[in-house]
Amino acid sequence: MSYYQVKNLEQYFKHYNKSIREPRKFWDKIADENFTWYQKWDKVVEFDMQEADVKWFLNAKVNITKNCIDRHLAKRGNKTAIIFEPNDPKEEAQHITYNELYDRVAKMANVLREQGIKKGDRVCIYLPMIPELAVSVLACARIGAVHSVIFAGFSASAVTTRVNDSQCKMVITSDGAYRGNKSIDLKGIIDEALEKCPTVEKVLVAKRTNAEINMKTGRDLWLQPLLEAAVPNNVAEIMDAEDPLFILYTSGSTGKPKGMLHTTAGYMVFAAYTFKNIFNYEENDIYWCTADIGWITGHSYILYGPLLNGATTVIFEGVPSYPDFGRFWEVIDKHKVTQFYTAPTAIRSLAKENSEWVEKHDLSTLKVIGSVGEPINEEAWHWYNNHVGKKRCPIVDTWWQTETGGIMISPLPFITPTKPTYATFPLPGIQAVLMDEKRNEIEDNQIVGSLCIKFPWPGMARTIWGDHQRFKETYFTAFPGKYFTGDGALRDEVGYYRITGRVDDVVIVSGHNLGTAPIEDAINEHPAVAESAIVGFPHDIKGNALYGFIILKEYGESRDRANLANEINQHISGHIGPIAKLDKIQFVSGLPKTRSGKIMRRILRKIAEGDFSNFGDTTTLLNPEIVEEIKNGRI
Ligand code: ATP
Ligand code: MG
Repeated sequence: MSYYQVKNLEQYFKHYNKSIREPRKFWDKIADENFTWYQKWDKVVEFDMQEADVKWFLNAKVNITKNCIDRHLAKRGNKTAIIFEPNDPKEEAQHITYNELYDRVAKMANVLREQGIKKGDRVCIYLPMIPELAVSVLACARIGAVHSVIFAGFSASAVTTRVNDSQCKMVITSDGAYRGNKSIDLKGIIDEALEKCPTVEKVLVAKRTNAEINMKTGRDLWLQPLLEAAVPNNVAEIMDAEDPLFILYTSGSTGKPKGMLHTTAGYMVFAAYTFKNIFNYEENDIYWCTADIGWITGHSYILYGPLLNGATTVIFEGVPSYPDFGRFWEVIDKHKVTQFYTAPTAIRSLAKENSEWVEKHDLSTLKVIGSVGEPINEEAWHWYNNHVGKKRCPIVDTWWQTETGGIMISPLPFITPTKPTYATFPLPGIQAVLMDEKRNEIEDNQIVGSLCIKFPWPGMARTIWGDHQRFKETYFTAFPGKYFTGDGALRDEVGYYRITGRVDDVVIVSGHNLGTAPIEDAINEHPAVAESAIVGFPHDIKGNALYGFIILKEYGESRDRANLANEINQHISGHIGPIAKLDKIQFVSGLPKTRSGKIMRRILRKIAEGDFSNFGDTTTLLNPEIVEEIKNGRI
């Protein structure tokens, strides 16, 4: 039996049980049957979860780009690997075949080598969502350089911190970036950032906006002429299974950015296996994930996962609201997209607009639609299901993290019956457990616990770059012998998992553990509410009480606030119970969000506590100005 793809529910349980009974055999077979290796492994896995030391496919030799590109050339050379859809719909889309991708990556790899980059060197990639971004990532992997992609919306100081943390030798950037109707001076940001980055020797600059920029002599080089002079052939570096593949900094909603290090073989196997299953990928599908390659979702599910499966993947440069709110749906229609993967924040923002924006485009090619990044609230789930999936397309609510490398808990489309707000079952190979405060496994249903994984999986991060101690403390000490995700979850009677938010956000009110997600869900169902965030604050009698920050819909704006607050509390009482009623309700015009669209509850918690002294790292905030407003309106 092949374990690479689950075909039905019965098989899911079979594979799952096999993966628990004999995890080594399970992963051995998947790795053996679906990839090209220079040399296979001596041992499948070796680990010490106390010390946070994990190794997969020991002593195997491989290059991930041989698996992403070269091995497809015989059969799929003329197949489109990448569809590039530019920011401006008037600019023509590009179709890059696997043959062309090979040439472009080979040339770029040769340029990197000529410019002094060797195996193990770190290269920072700070580019918009253009083909050069994909090509740069793959070229690094080709020659064994460690890529560190930094989302091109980050500020100069955020870039400085990250480039210095991983001591990058080179930066690849562009003259500028388009985002909606704006043009962004990327090179200017890099120039400012690099004033304090002594390790960077060279900056390669791609042309995108033709903006006037400064080129620093001896450091900066235009990419185009170098590529034109390069040979379209490249011998890939032979990498050890555990050689570093990339560093990626987490989005930073909980504190100082952590440079998660992923290694080669395990990540490759896991990205490929999860992509195939979660998106039910078939040969002629057109797959589109709207994330940025600057996030893990883009690494695993725009680039590596799809290319490892020989898929066609869309790279979208634009934003959902430009030139209008129909942009996503227009792209699906235009490229006949079959799988669409996006984030709840995008779904919520588009659900606020007139549904005509969706209805006027043909979405009949869609088969599977997905969500990632945050718990998807019930209202958004139904909107997505009704308007985008037309109740035909299963929604895969995929739970995972930068640290996990790939999707861990998710429905398998057409196999696992979906249930709004539930990420459902762990994938075969993933041994999820819920733990209580006494460090015992929770067996019962409907109890919120700490979500842990009790056996290693190939895609897990191996360390935090330069700080193994922090890695160990953050993920492996709270529940000795297990990986602690930092997220809270509960299980229903059939074993489906529902993520209830981060454990740090669980509030203990009069001895009851309350997850924030289900309460926010209830509040968001109130017709006057657009969005909400709940945090705890110290309370003399209850230990903690709940503080709600609520954004109203236009319709709610005209209502009396005190009445509305009462109604909202009654609504919570009815849906969850009186224990979850809010002690304080503050109506706000916005919530602080990270650039990947997640609410920064850490800051709201400080405000609720009345502690305005130290908000921590706010460099990744999308809307820093909102913090002042919320502070001033504190109740
Ligand atoms: P940082 O760790 O720096 O605070 P982050 O956790 O936001 O940043 P990511 O690794 O991008 O960075 O996000 C992973 C987190 O996102 C998960 O731990 C979880 O809290 C949340 N998440 C992702 N997908 C889902 C989902 N489908 N349902 C619920 N929560 C999700
Ligand atoms: Mg995290």
